[in-house]
Amino acid sequence: MAAEAGTGALERYEAVIGIEIHCQLRTASKMFCGCSTEIDGAAPNSHCCPVCLGLPGVLPTINKSAVECVIATGFAIEAAIAPTTRWDRKNYFYPDLPKGYQISQYQLPLASNGRLTFETSEGPFTVRINRAHLEEDTGRLIHAELDASPGGRPARRVSLIDFNRSGMPLMEIVTEPDIRTAEQARRYAEELRLLMRTIGASDAEMENGQMRVEANVSIRPRGREEFGTRIEVKNMNSMRSVERAIDFEIQRQAVAIDAGRTIRMETRGWDEARQETYLMRPKEAENEYRYFPEPDLPPLVAPPEWLAEIKARLPELPAARRNRYGTDLGLSAYDAAVIVNDAAATALFEGALAADTGAPAKLIANWVTGEYMRLVKGKAGAGKVNAGELAALAKLVADGAISGTNAKEVFAEHLDTGEPVARIIEKHGYRQISDAGALGAAVEQVLAANPAAVADYRAGRDAAVGFLVGQVMKATRGQANATMVQAALRERLDRAE
Ligand code: ADP
Ligand code: MG
Ligand code: ZN
Repeated sequence: MAAEAGTGALERYEAVIGIEIHCQLRTASKMFCGCSTEIDGAAPNSHCCPVCLGLPGVLPTINKSAVECVIATGFAIEAAIAPTTRWDRKNYFYPDLPKGYQISQYQLPLASNGRLTFETSEGPFTVRINRAHLEEDTGRLIHAELDASPGGRPARRVSLIDFNRSGMPLMEIVTEPDIRTAEQARRYAEELRLLMRTIGASDAEMENGQMRVEANVSIRPRGREEFGTRIEVKNMNSMRSVERAIDFEIQRQAVAIDAGRTIRMETRGWDEARQETYLMRPKEAENEYRYFPEPDLPPLVAPPEWLAEIKARLPELPAARRNRYGTDLGLSAYDAAVIVNDAAATALFEGALAADTGAPAKLIANWVTGEYMRLVKGKAGAGKVNAGELAALAKLVADGAISGTNAKEVFAEHLDTGEPVARIIEKHGYRQISDAGALGAAVEQVLAANPAAVADYRAGRDAAVGFLVGQVMKATRGQANATMVQAALRERLDRAE
């Protein structure tokens, strides 16, 4: 009955969605101390010091490159960068927070009023971004089961704490409630991830928590202006889960409202195994954070020259790059997006263009989105492909010096071994005979040796040409350019009539 109530939910209700994303920044040291950020796979509590352990009497110092990451992000999302910001203490008690407060930015975020535009299945969509600010990460609680000891101590559950993540630089990016579908939400997160990686602000890997996406979801009857009550959903560990969790939540809320229940503010988690959200805690119970200015840090002043420097260092952004590939290079929107979404593919494509072999950009793009992507899919690394070699191969194909089929084999071997394309072609004798003189001689020989087929063709049996092409290919050990052979044969047969 409940499921029935929810059917057609999307016709009757519209979802309103705002996304909060936390990204671990790509810096060498932590936010307020000198500890290394290389904590992946490190022994628990091996990357800590008195500052990130929150011991008394220590003072934080600001990590300049973390600030630069957020400012660069601000520029990339067309936000306003605050010339002066300050730090605030966000007070709450939790065992993973050794100081009892988190240093964050509350009143004055580094970046505000930005936006991001991206493609969706329904065309381009723009989301306004409320803010991007800097803060520090917490430690990590690990819940474990200790086995019973032989001495008789019973099995028990314990909570362990790893402070390696404590004080890691974290950027929080919050959108306005502009998003209306789960697909838009996923596409926003994907585009932001691409942006973070492009500007080098974060590796933004969702699986290991470098990028954490939280979705605030409410629904309202279509046509109504007023927002409904929002639910916050967290713990999605892939882009697909982001989309699924939001879709699930829209459906769940519709069922609840249809059944006359009231939606209350709460935080829900995404259960990947069950593909559903579950209640983590009601929002009303959330702490009052008692924010106040951080007394141990001075305000952060960003002089215009520094901002200009950071802006000038920005690489070409994904949107601009896709645009350039479309308008200047004539790639399809699809090919441009496929290449720009993949850093290795982008580097390969750019490198091949830079090699300037005269191969058309569209042909190179076909190789990158086609054979290259197909062959490296699911493999670690990009193989041993060299951009200049790919460009040289594409040029040979464009010139008809090698057949498309042979070129694919050559490329696969190059990817595996790194051997130069010219040497592979040589080794296999793949160079096509495209020289009209050499082809002409072979054509004449075949015509003279096959009078019956010639007679068949003249009697109107067009299929005889196919047989003759086959004979020329055989005579040249497959090295003739088949298209040219076909044309030469027809021309010769029709002329002599
Ligand atoms: P909090 O500090 O509780 O997370 P914020 O004001 O930072 O609250 O908002 C969190 C997110 O919720 C923002 O992305 C915002 O756009 C979004 N949001 C606000 N109201 C709604 C609503 N009614 N439905 C869906 N999302 C909302
Ligand atoms: Mg929130
Ligand atoms: Zn430290």
